[in-house]
Amino acid sequence: MQVSTTVFAARIQRFRLPRVCVAVVGEDASNIIDRAESLVRDNPFLEFRLDYLSNPATGLPKLKHFLDLHPEATVIATCRRAVNGGKFKGSATAQLDILTKAAAAGFQLVDIELQSAEILKPAELALLKDRVGVILSFHDFKATKRLEETFAEMKRYPADFYKVVSTATSLYDNVQMMKFLQAHSAQHEMVGLCMGEQGIISRVLGVRAGSVFTFAAATRGEETAPGQVTASELRDTYRIEMVDAATQVYGVAGDPVSHSMSPIMMNAAFRRETVNAVFLALHAKTMKDLMACVPDIPIRGLSITMPYKQNIVDALSNSDVLTRQVGACNTVVRSQDAKLYGFNTDVAGVVVPLEQRMTLQGAKILVVGAGGVARAAAFGLKNKGAEVFIVNRTPEKGQALAKQTKAKYVKRADVAKMSFDVIINATPLGMGSNRQSPLEEKELNTKFLFDLVYVPAETKLMKMARARNIQVIPGLEMFVQQGARQFEIWSGKPAPIAEMSFVVTKALERLEPQPAEDEAPTPKAQPRPAEKPAPKSPAKPVAKPPARPTVKAAGKKTTKPATRKPAQKAAKKPVKR
Ligand code: NAP
Repeated sequence: MQVSTTVFAARIQRFRLPRVCVAVVGEDASNIIDRAESLVRDNPFLEFRLDYLSNPATGLPKLKHFLDLHPEATVIATCRRAVNGGKFKGSATAQLDILTKAAAAGFQLVDIELQSAEILKPAELALLKDRVGVILSFHDFKATKRLEETFAEMKRYPADFYKVVSTATSLYDNVQMMKFLQAHSAQHEMVGLCMGEQGIISRVLGVRAGSVFTFAAATRGEETAPGQVTASELRDTYRIEMVDAATQVYGVAGDPVSHSMSPIMMNAAFRRETVNAVFLALHAKTMKDLMACVPDIPIRGLSITMPYKQNIVDALSNSDVLTRQVGACNTVVRSQDAKLYGFNTDVAGVVVPLEQRMTLQGAKILVVGAGGVARAAAFGLKNKGAEVFIVNRTPEKGQALAKQTKAKYVKRADVAKMSFDVIINATPLGMGSNRQSPLEEKELNTKFLFDLVYVPAETKLMKMARARNIQVIPGLEMFVQQGARQFEIWSGKPAPIAEMSFVVTKALERLEPQPAEDEAPTPKAQPRPAEKPAPKSPAKPVAKPPARPTVKAAGKKTTKPATRKPAQKAAKKPVKR
């Protein structure tokens, strides 16, 4: 009797796979194993790039040992040919031989390019598929185009997963990828994403649109493509394992936007309040690109940052009084009728931290700067009855703002002769690696200093103020308060302010360089808030809930687009993926 020697691969089932696969590269098999050993506990889904080995076949016995030791891991063997963007210089037949040996070694999945499939005989591919799960892949390292035509080609070859990886050159390319995945993920096991800095959001949106899994960097510094997120960011910040078609999409839109702390803060708030939503950084190089994505993703709400705070106003169907007064919008709600409604929560970001400490009626407040944030501060504080003074590098701009807001313009030379209840820094001086201060120590005649710069957590201006026993309000408070109002507008739930403040403080600490010996240490993060019940406020309770935001267009009936409850108070070498 003849016994069949065919080994039938246990088919990999999509629901058994984690959503995040981490690529592992190394110069030799020992390198790959060392890296995989350090990753596998947190990342049970790995891809070994055999094409990075000088002789992939000789490395396989060692890799088999790893697979035997880690039955809990699912590992893809990839030996991408150089002509298709990998490093393997051999022929398609030699590639097939290595992948067949990888299957025998215990890899559960192998990745083979469409271009290799086109060269090999159908029977050879069929035999491979009998032995192991096959990912048929296609990579476009330049653009996102012809996805449908490419997939029509790919479907001619049987595979367990069809993987299409393109390169995003605009935000809208992510939408193209989403639509492509949505169109095919019901009939086929699809994996899709866009590479490139503009394609970051496809790693989350792709999964939402039906991609069985996505790829991530092991750690920061090991990114395998520009702007790639790490596996832990995908899991912890973006909660990729729970993202599904019902997950609502929000984002911060700007250019640049990669530095923004909003995704960390907002995703923490959504997680805390168990809202099925994800908050992304939308790097829009043009307003047109951004506006094209909003209905198609579709986006439920936007946080708007530079340089679009003014431009977005024209795209709004309606806006709140503050947006119209300030002439800038930092918060957008997309309603059921697909219209965009604008709010300005920067005003609350300035006003609330001050109201927690003082009565603003009659308070003497100097605003340094006359840009966007200074406008929000000046209008907001005047509305509260404060006596507002403005000083600015370009006097004409400062005088114009003073006139508009009925504030008083102060010459720089006079600042040192005056005293205030609060001085607000609304300039970028002190931000990032810029160690400058907008005022000199002798000009700080004030009870409170509110530095709106929040990166770094402690600026030169703040240090000077502390040295003069002035009470310092960090810019973090503005950031958290403006974000808290956004969260409430979007979700209708009270914002978990303590959690939001905690995660941003921690993220800022991670950014901080170690202080020099003569520098004061940065303040320590507050302890992590208890899990439940949700904390109500930061250090001090909010005196009273902010007014319900109403949206009114000039001459139009008042509408309320959003319900809002009262605020409670080693990969060593890069590999393209
Ligand atoms: P903006 O519109 O560009 O305005 C910048 C203002 O700063 C202008 O008045 C400008 O004066 C002045 N300025 C710029 N460089 C200066 C310099 N070297 N010396 C003196 N004055 C200078 O910026 P913005 O949107 O208002 O933002 C200002 C800062 O606020 C940001 O850099 C950021 O650090 C902070 N911010 C904080 C939050 C938060 O949540 N905490 C939110 C947004 C912004 P001229 O009129 O002479 O150009």
